[in-house]
Amino acid sequence: MPTTSPDQAGTPSPAADAAPRRRRSWVGLIGLCCLGAVVHLSTRPPAPTPDALAPAVTLPTARGLFPAAARLGPAPPGQAVAVYDADGRRLGSILDTTPAAQKHPGYAGPVPAAVGLGTDQRIIGVRLLDHYESPSYVESITRSGWLDRWNGLTRAEAAATTVDAVSGATMTSRAIAGAVRQTLADLDPEAAPAACRVPRSLPTALAWLALALAVMRLASRDRRHWPRRLGPVANVVILGFLNGSCLSLALACGWLSHGLPWRHAPFLVALAAVALLGAVLTGRPVYCTCLCPYGSAQDLMARLWRGRQRPGLPSWLSSGLRAVRGGVLLGVVGMLLWPRPFDAAALEPFSAFQWRSATAAALVLALVFLALSLVFPRLWCRHLCPSGRLLEVFRARSAEAVARRGLDLERALLAAALAAALRLAWRLRG
Ligand code: SF4
Repeated sequence: MPTTSPDQAGTPSPAADAAPRRRRSWVGLIGLCCLGAVVHLSTRPPAPTPDALAPAVTLPTARGLFPAAARLGPAPPGQAVAVYDADGRRLGSILDTTPAAQKHPGYAGPVPAAVGLGTDQRIIGVRLLDHYESPSYVESITRSGWLDRWNGLTRAEAAATTVDAVSGATMTSRAIAGAVRQTLADLDPEAAPAACRVPRSLPTALAWLALALAVMRLASRDRRHWPRRLGPVANVVILGFLNGSCLSLALACGWLSHGLPWRHAPFLVALAAVALLGAVLTGRPVYCTCLCPYGSAQDLMARLWRGRQRPGLPSWLSSGLRAVRGGVLLGVVGMLLWPRPFDAAALEPFSAFQWRSATAAALVLALVFLALSLVFPRLWCRHLCPSGRLLEVFRARSAEAVARRGLDLERALLAAALAAALRLAWRLRG
């Protein structure tokens, strides 16, 4: 008769453990797909038509460009409104970049703008319209005076000009510039390039290199292999400081609402694909261990404490913090369904890498938990990070189980469902 030791009696078998994990993975995936569809459909703007564009440009917006504006009227084809003063004199007209902004999304979605044209058809100013972008990024753009760089240019000059992105708000400024150039190019097709291209830059090339390094690191079993040593530093310097490429709740919110920016942020999309598919296919926290700049920064801090004894967190505090992590994630999901936009970037420390546009809250959060990780390794990751919690949904089974049994039908189906969900989001967006 088989006997059972007390240890064995208290430990569920791997097979018994796998069933609830498998159920959880399916429920999590289906829940996320439903959430994505609901958020996308509830926040997706109606297809813009020339008539629907005019209300976006109101008299107060016009007064920001033409201080003497007293009345708005019909404009020439392709332009939103004409602007008149109190005596009925025409001061100029305003272009609305909303249709083009749908094709040039920023960090959290389209960033439409009103472009003021004087009677001589030169640009007199650019003002942002309603958007979902993180207020901190937008503030850093307006504070830098970047929007004034268009002033005085003719339509053809502005459409053809290359404007440097604002450091610390790169995606947002590229989105605005792309939409303005596209709108002007649509107006004068013979005078401007047909489409705006994302400029290739050294930081972006280095980011692809860091991604390749991470994949090599993942594949290597040798703990002293050079990608393992270089990886965390590359993540912090290249992905964090040079590119600001972190997966975050703010990014997830923007993509769920407005679709994936395949063409304009291909690296971020590839990073997300590696993170999700890596988790689904291997069952390992691929992004957290090999790519996340803030996770890597905490690892580098923890190395400074090596060899000394570390105090542990009391269990009540540890489980309490974990509950906060789930609570923050649920709170963000709730806020997503709320009609008013909110700044999800302020809930996480990732935007601190772009310190010039980061909020004070993100900077404080980043510095405090970086300092704490000296003594408590990855304190933020293990107890608080809501993005890490979201990624966990995709890796429901332990790495050991996957290594033992290989890629099974369930994992393949999960990957296929994920690909189908992304494809659906893309089609809905179009
Ligand atoms: S848990 Fe959060 S901070 Fe930590 S590595 Fe993962 S995503 Fe990055």
